[in-house]
Amino acid sequence: MVNFVGAGPGAKDLITIRGKELLERADVIIYAGSLVNPALLDYAKESCEIHDSAKLTLDEVIQIIKDAEKKGLNTVRLHTGDPSIYGAIREQMDILKKENIPFDVTPGVSSFCGAAAALNMEYTLPGITQSVIITRMDGRTKVPEKESVEALCSHGATMVFFLSAGDTKRLSDRLMAGGLSEDTPCAIVYKATWPDEKKVICTLKELPVRAAEEGITKTALIIVGKAVAQNGYEMSRLYAPDFSTEFRKGTDSDN
Ligand code: SAH
Repeated sequence: MVNFVGAGPGAKDLITIRGKELLERADVIIYAGSLVNPALLDYAKESCEIHDSAKLTLDEVIQIIKDAEKKGLNTVRLHTGDPSIYGAIREQMDILKKENIPFDVTPGVSSFCGAAAALNMEYTLPGITQSVIITRMDGRTKVPEKESVEALCSHGATMVFFLSAGDTKRLSDRLMAGGLSEDTPCAIVYKATWPDEKKVICTLKELPVRAAEEGITKTALIIVGKAVAQNGYEMSRLYAPDFSTEFRKGTDSDN
């Protein structure tokens, strides 16, 4: 059996209880060494066999899993954040299906949630935006034209850029080419929830300079949009005194 487990954004205690229990029981752990905090491996039992997938090809990962299966051992495939976001789990699951190896998925706290927590930020502020766009700039992996940085700017939503900290100059130029003003609020969150986390709030124009000053080129999220300023929003309707809900009778109620 293979358990795909979301490790959370970094901090050792931000894995789910289920994820931690699976790590404690695992005979084999294959973890994404470039991004998963190695402190999470403290949960593994002494006899557990541990592999860093950053050094492996897909075929090698599958071979380790097959060997474990032959011996009747349990494997945890530990992915950073939540496995559903840029986790490359579909291809692994499809191979396991073909090999008749059972698997399941345990979600994790994605780094975009860890970054919002680090900034004490709400992405979806009433009166500003009600949407979060999770995306990336193209690199070795292509991004469909309709989802280009420039195209996504038209929405005015909060944008969270994964895998894009390597070229903040290009990102900021493209966001401005897409119509965002140079004073649009941005945040860079490096290693959210790790002990060496760094966070920077700046404008779109300052983004490349601030990233360079902090020496940030990877393991960071770039968050862009008016919501980053965390002001000028409207109060939520849910908690308004005149608003009735299924659970609370408000002053708007007739009965
Ligand atoms: N599945 C992961 C994302 C994997 S893609 C998740 O849900 O978070 C790898 C990218 O995620 C990195 O390039 C970086 O942009 C981002 N990332 C992962 N962990 C991060 C962290 N702790 N802080 C900031 N960004 C992080």
